[in-house]
Amino acid sequence: MNEEKKSFRDSIATADKHGRRLWIYPTKPKGKFYSARTFVSWILLLILFGLPVLKINGHPAMLLNIIERKFVILGVVFWPQDFYLFVLATLTLVVFIVLFTAVFGRLFCGWACPQTIFLEMVFRKIEYLIEGSAASQKRLAKAPWTFTKIFKKGLKHIIFFSLSFLIGNLLLAYIVGLDELVKIITDPPSQHLIGLGFMFLFSLIFYGVFAWFREQACTMVCPYGRLQSVLLDNNSIVVAYDHKRGEKRGIVERKEDFSNRGHCIDCYACVKVCPTGIDIRNGTQLECVNCTACIDACDSVMDKVNLPQGLIRYSSGNIIEKGGKFKVTGRILGYILTLSFLLIIMTVLLTTRTDIETSILRTSGTLYQETDEGMIKNLYNISVINKTFTDVPLEFKLKNKQGRILLIGNTSVVPQNGRFESVFFIEIAKDELFTTNNLITIEIISNGVVLE
Ligand code: SF4
Ligand code: SF4
Repeated sequence: MNEEKKSFRDSIATADKHGRRLWIYPTKPKGKFYSARTFVSWILLLILFGLPVLKINGHPAMLLNIIERKFVILGVVFWPQDFYLFVLATLTLVVFIVLFTAVFGRLFCGWACPQTIFLEMVFRKIEYLIEGSAASQKRLAKAPWTFTKIFKKGLKHIIFFSLSFLIGNLLLAYIVGLDELVKIITDPPSQHLIGLGFMFLFSLIFYGVFAWFREQACTMVCPYGRLQSVLLDNNSIVVAYDHKRGEKRGIVERKEDFSNRGHCIDCYACVKVCPTGIDIRNGTQLECVNCTACIDACDSVMDKVNLPQGLIRYSSGNIIEKGGKFKVTGRILGYILTLSFLLIIMTVLLTTRTDIETSILRTSGTLYQETDEGMIKNLYNISVINKTFTDVPLEFKLKNKQGRILLIGNTSVVPQNGRFESVFFIEIAKDELFTTNNLITIEIISNGVVLE
């Protein structure tokens, strides 16, 4: 490779040598992968917008209330007491991401990442609709500020901001819930200044990202993107250029025979369509979001020159170099085993997780007392957490000893999604106690049902 061709290693396509932003005007993709991605995007957008709206048993299907540390996933509520589950779920997710990336590269970025979906499938499509093709957009950017330019740019940015406002509201719905969001919108503004402030802030952030920052979120900010260099190896399936078939590249002459040259006709269609502005023929790069636009572009070029499709395709460095199929390496096997182990633990913990959690401890600093009736009396602290959406009345009963429990205070109802804390005495007949250490079993009953 000559020095000029190697320069892609020292610079990014979105900045000039002075560090100034180079705006990318990608050609609108067309082809089977783009159609499939469009279809998948609509389904994912439906799920994304549907989850905070959908209710299961009257509760949001998804709520990620980090302010109150309350998380609802598919109608099941998780509280700070479930923190161990959160830690384990995070660990499982990290191992899953590592395994998934080691096998499929950045497949998630191209097909399922909300940033790519909104940018490529919503905002960019609106841009093509208003400003036209990539070439027209370039011309419009350079043109003087005529009425047409002001109208097109104004219209585009009004729509962009409205959509960003909608996405900002969607994020807020995930955090505070749809009911609270409706209150923020419908109540007098003075009652929800913080909520409205966040609504405006989120809208501005999304508008900034989709109207201006764009692909730089993937190439410069996204931590997942930055980790690619350690997660990928030559065995990972990525969007790859088959250099063995494509080189030596060159512009095609009329009726040229391809038997003594590479199949790449150096038409740059794959570069022009790339939303991050890279040339995939230089190999796997950090900036590639695996959007497949270059596959579609190259396939249509191959059709035109009567060569088989797939010069750019999903493949791995090893397959292109040596042929054969994808191999399960020791590294991947290790990830699979770790992930299976974590999933088993997660399943066990989730299935044995109870709706009511109780802890009873001897009140520190107190000694036992002997009553006039010959009973031994001790003081205990009780804490009950109710993880359900209904109030739970409780009764406490001694199971293995004759005696009684005297709760201090007259209510023992644990509020929904709340905690009940109290103290109680346990009185047991002296002749029931044989040693200084006695095992006492307490039944916790609610509406006649033994809970614990
Ligand atoms: S689109 Fe295909 S043929 Fe054209 S430059 Fe890219 S790899 Fe070569
Ligand atoms: S190189 Fe291809 S797959 Fe990667 S971002 Fe560019 S167009 Fe998308």
